[in-house]
Amino acid sequence: MAGIPNPEIKYTQLFINNEWLDAESGRTFSTLNPATGEEIAQVQEGDKADVNKAVQAAREAFKLGSTWRTMDASQRGHLLYRLADLIERNREYLASLESLDNGKPYLDAFNIDLGLVIKCYRYYAGWADKTHGKTIPMDGSVLCYTRHEPIGVCGQIIPWNFPLLMQAWKLGPALATGNVVVMKLAEQTPLTGLYVCSLIKEAGFPPGVVNVVPGFGPTAGAAISEHMDVDKVAFTGSTEVGHIIQNAAGSSNLKRVTLELGGKSPLIVLDDADLDKAVELAHFALFFNQGQCCCAGSRLMVQEGIYDTFVEKATARALARKVGNPFQAGIEQGPQVDELQHKKVLGYIKTGIAEGATLRAGGSSWGDKGYFVQPTVFSDVTDDMTICKEEIFGPVQVIQKFKTVDEVIDRANRNSYGLAAAVFTRNLDNATFISNSLRAGTVWVNCYDVLEAQAPFGGYKMSGIGRELGEYGLEAYTEVKTVTIALQQKNS
Ligand code: ADP
Repeated sequence: MAGIPNPEIKYTQLFINNEWLDAESGRTFSTLNPATGEEIAQVQEGDKADVNKAVQAAREAFKLGSTWRTMDASQRGHLLYRLADLIERNREYLASLESLDNGKPYLDAFNIDLGLVIKCYRYYAGWADKTHGKTIPMDGSVLCYTRHEPIGVCGQIIPWNFPLLMQAWKLGPALATGNVVVMKLAEQTPLTGLYVCSLIKEAGFPPGVVNVVPGFGPTAGAAISEHMDVDKVAFTGSTEVGHIIQNAAGSSNLKRVTLELGGKSPLIVLDDADLDKAVELAHFALFFNQGQCCCAGSRLMVQEGIYDTFVEKATARALARKVGNPFQAGIEQGPQVDELQHKKVLGYIKTGIAEGATLRAGGSSWGDKGYFVQPTVFSDVTDDMTICKEEIFGPVQVIQKFKTVDEVIDRANRNSYGLAAAVFTRNLDNATFISNSLRAGTVWVNCYDVLEAQAPFGGYKMSGIGRELGEYGLEAYTEVKTVTIALQQKNS
């Protein structure tokens, strides 16, 4: 066994003003272990009244002259560095809790998720005192400069597939640039985000700078996106809810909106690719995190010369995938996050079979408890099939055949999503031509899921609005103010 299979559950309340509170309604909800379906803990269920309280606390922390508003920018960075250090100190515990609540293999949580989380906070810590405006050359009778100011109260609504990492992607840039936050955690996975609140307090962030409300989307989430005193909402989740958030912002106070939504990312393999490497990376691109990645390589397009061999090898690799207890070393795949997702994925598999795709591996539930799905592979998938068009968000690999480069670009782009894409080839001209032609926010060449804090990430089309991570990610958390000062004497 790896990690701590039964981590102590320490925090299940709302975090407002650096204090732990019960929900106003007195209601709680249960969070389950997806590997068994058993309850881990009851968590306080925040809704509109609690969101209002959190917004008030945030607004107070953002007042002119407050500790946070007057803090040296370097000190803001220092607090973020401290938070990263505290998360690192608690890495084993947090990875265990993440694995328990979400179902992902412990070693993935420890190595991948926590590694990226710590790096993300450190990356944005470094930016705190390095993002600044410009002086603008104008007529010599004025001094004109820009300031990068925080937007204010930022609502942040995060999903369950990478609870700690999505929290870091949101908090890092928001805090580095001096904003205050009201965050809603996903109802399936509230535990690690709450534990991080205790570390935020320990790191020394002033009360009200970060407020976290666990609860449900249509209540707590909607209260954030509709709020008249929230200046911005950042959301990661389904395209369906992205529409709701955008509408709510539009019909309330026109708060700024950034969205990171779904995807159906094409992974294109040309005849001249390193075949074994492409098979392995295509497997990783889809099956990593139980297939629950918005940028999963969920539409695998293989050129006809290698198609049959590729399908054979991809099938063999899926059949060899180790499914089981997420705390057991060597396990590659845990359960889906909950019963709803489990049903949804099995439903897509049924539709794939009914619409005539060839089932090569898997196809049903795995084990006798929990929400596991067998690693599943479909070949001979055509563009009109549901499993080719819609996001499955599960361990279901969808393989298609193509003939020419022009054809594959056209087919890959005929989709409402545009989050990520990949191309595998040894030909530099084709790699460049295809990556320039694909309508996607990220294109990987001969690699997949290389997501580092310093490289921007986000979607074209219905995969989102705005970019997270990197220097570009700061733009989503700053207003640019132009200050123009008339001078007494004309300067050159
Ligand atoms: P998924 O389908 O992957 O669970 P969702 O888009 O439903 O993704 O959820 C992502 C996040 O959005 C969660 O925190 C969820 O509670 C929240 N959410 C769901 N519905 C709404 C809504 N109507 N308004 C605001 N947030 C919502």
